[in-house]
Amino acid sequence: MRAEIVSIGTELLMGEIVDTNSAYLAAELPKLGIALRWVSKVSDDPEMMAEVLGRAWGRSDLTLMTGGLGPTSDDLTRETIARILGEQMTVQDDLLHHLKAQFASFGISMSENNIKQATLIPSSRAVANPIGTAPGWWVEKGGRIAVAMPGPPRELKRMWVNEVAPKLKEKSQGAAIVTKTWKTFGISEGGLNQMLAPLFHSTNPVMGIYARPDGIHLRAIATAPDAAKARALMEPMDAQVRQTAGNAIWGLDDDTPESLVAERLATRGLTIGTTECHTGGLLVNALTAHPAMADRLRGGIVIPSATLLESQGVPAGVISQHGPASAQVAEAMAQAARARLGAGVGLAISGIQSEGAGEDPVQICHVGFDVEGKRSSLRLRYPSRLMIIKERVVVQALLELLRLLK
Ligand code: ATP
Ligand code: MG
Repeated sequence: MRAEIVSIGTELLMGEIVDTNSAYLAAELPKLGIALRWVSKVSDDPEMMAEVLGRAWGRSDLTLMTGGLGPTSDDLTRETIARILGEQMTVQDDLLHHLKAQFASFGISMSENNIKQATLIPSSRAVANPIGTAPGWWVEKGGRIAVAMPGPPRELKRMWVNEVAPKLKEKSQGAAIVTKTWKTFGISEGGLNQMLAPLFHSTNPVMGIYARPDGIHLRAIATAPDAAKARALMEPMDAQVRQTAGNAIWGLDDDTPESLVAERLATRGLTIGTTECHTGGLLVNALTAHPAMADRLRGGIVIPSATLLESQGVPAGVISQHGPASAQVAEAMAQAARARLGAGVGLAISGIQSEGAGEDPVQICHVGFDVEGKRSSLRLRYPSRLMIIKERVVVQALLELLRLLK
């Protein structure tokens, strides 16, 4: 099934509203095994809408539209569909009755403008929208499907989840979809793409590559008549990805750095305590995000400035000799975290320090580890802005800890 999304609304082209609806639908379609081919945005202009929707209807098996179902004169999605299919819109008594009842329940009288929200064409059926006034349209003709959904994201999502996705699933019955995600760190998107180039030619499973804060993710989607066959299609792909990029893979599917750290700590019967400088609590926040961590995390010390390192147990001599953003300080911080919080593992992030002059100084940061008295550190170097660095430091600290706990 070839699918196309059309987002309708002049505000979208003015940059006043970001088109999140198409991103939402684009992320939903792979779950149904439907391949998305095109996404467009078009203003409320009737001629342009007719051009874009006419083209979509002509080339796609499934056209998903959002917006333009409201009561005002610039809401023209229904009118345009009727026009390109050459069909007449007629008011439906049951829909009108329902709409009037809905307005009555809000205690307001319905305006004439709203009547068009109770119309259908011969090829369309109404799609329920209990949280808004505009019902959607499910249009089916000559083996093609077009669905018009409301613009407000809350209404769109509800209609998609409760009405549209289940119907589409029925249509594509006999297809099972299996997805698999490999999460990597340390190889660039381009590098990974090159290493795995042959796999990107595969059409089933189809492979995608995505940059995320915790590294580059590879995702494959296999479609087959049943789940066992889809899994069988996935197996050779899995073997090849592991063989080629195995060293860089730190997790699969729903794994996160913190979920894996929690698991590993539990397996080894260890607890953890953290100290962090300049990351404002991001490290301990990441750890608290995982419920299994509740049994493992003994606490987190957040130091807003390097001048407070000494008060948190880092010896003054180490600070003065090596500087606050050094490997030695990071290790001493980890040791102090472990001792002060009574944990088996101390994990610490030192200050972040600019190195080099000019417009783009390099940022240096050290991560310290104390695993049951065995201390080590990791030096990180970033050529980018501070906020991004903070997130990255946390991810890298957790992934390195994962390696040390193996
Ligand atoms: P309404 O009955 O509320 O007018 P509608 O179906 O006519 O619904 P629009 O008028 O196109 O939808 O949009 C209503 C509101 O929904 C917009 O002001 C905007 O806030 C939001 N919206 C519309 N389209 C999108 C989109 N593609 N992405 C995100 N938000 C959107
Ligand atoms: Mg509107």
